[in-house]
Amino acid sequence: MVFACDFKVIKLVHSNNIKNDGNSKNHNLQTYKYLKPHPLIRGISISKRLIDLGVLAVRQKNVRGTFKPHLAVKFRSTDGNPRVFSIDSTRVPKKYQQPDAYLITHAHSDHHGKSAMLSDRAVCSDKTALALRIRHDRKYIGSTVGVGANESIDINGVTVTTYSTGHTVGSTAFYWENEVGTRILVTGDVKDASQLPKCDVLITEANYGDHADSTCHFEDDITGFNNAIEMNGSVAFGAYAFGKAQRAVELIREFGYNGAIEMESKSLALTQNLLENCGELVGLGESGGEGMCIVPPWDLGKLPRDIAKYVLTGRDDYYYPAINISDHLDATGLVKMVEGIDPKVAIIYHPNGDRPAKFAQHLNSIGIESISIDNIKNVLSNEFI
Ligand SMILES: [Zn+2]
Repeated sequence: MVFACDFKVIKLVHSNNIKNDGNSKNHNLQTYKYLKPHPLIRGISISKRLIDLGVLAVRQKNVRGTFKPHLAVKFRSTDGNPRVFSIDSTRVPKKYQQPDAYLITHAHSDHHGKSAMLSDRAVCSDKTALALRIRHDRKYIGSTVGVGANESIDINGVTVTTYSTGHTVGSTAFYWENEVGTRILVTGDVKDASQLPKCDVLITEANYGDHADSTCHFEDDITGFNNAIEMNGSVAFGAYAFGKAQRAVELIREFGYNGAIEMESKSLALTQNLLENCGELVGLGESGGEGMCIVPPWDLGKLPRDIAKYVLTGRDDYYYPAINISDHLDATGLVKMVEGIDPKVAIIYHPNGDRPAKFAQHLNSIGIESISIDNIKNVLSNEFI
């Protein structure tokens, strides 16, 4: 199927070139190797390179005919059996053959654990499973694994090892090798790449991967955050309930503040259950209205007027002043991560929009072969996964 598809595209480009050239009859495909490769052709050559490495990256369509989120990889395990791992995607309807695993890198909604957690083939870290349960108030029925280079899980004969990505509590990268020894690494979103191993096929994100966009270049404003905390009087921080709120509490404790922190109920439940050494956390109004408070950004307006308010974000479109505390690597950090991991091929699979394509383009321009999810042309139906 793949090669039939490749052939069609090569023919198409060939005939386009013929149209633009009066001497077309004397041309053969060899002539075109001197032309700049069409992005589609580049994508196809990378797809073939992946196949040489024993990896087929595929996308699926859902019942509405649109793409299911993210992708799946097909490969052979070391015992020679074909295996499919679905990555940060929704479940395939039960009547179809299921992948060997639904890998969930972390519990943010745009990685679709809310759906995948209902499959007994879901695989995520123990803390991600707990976060999903608290966030969605439903039972996680898959398998769990600790996070760290010494933590691994057997998935139908494939030994999958986990590595922390520092993005949220419990966020993990998954690493395994296929039949021909290709090392495959799926990162999910990354804040700290220092633990990640080298690999041959890297499947990673580009949340801030657009080098030409100045908002993709930033540093955390740790000093600004500390200054806001040291001001006299009450202070409130707007932070998403999962991810940013736990990072805020971690930093506040690192700054040496030992008092009670008031939190909105979901943020409180997540932080108390997920974060060790979180100190005294209480509900809104339970510390007497003095001190510090963390609520989702949209709840800041509900708090009393005389409290100083900030949003912990890299965005600049909030009503309240922003302090740049991000749970992501910026554009420079992402490139350093990929250079450190040193893959033969990088697949950029997240987020939606054009950032994966822009990041892949940038990586190609610096000599790292890359393909973005929108250029993966292998589309399998549920029957063929
Ligand atoms: Zn995330």
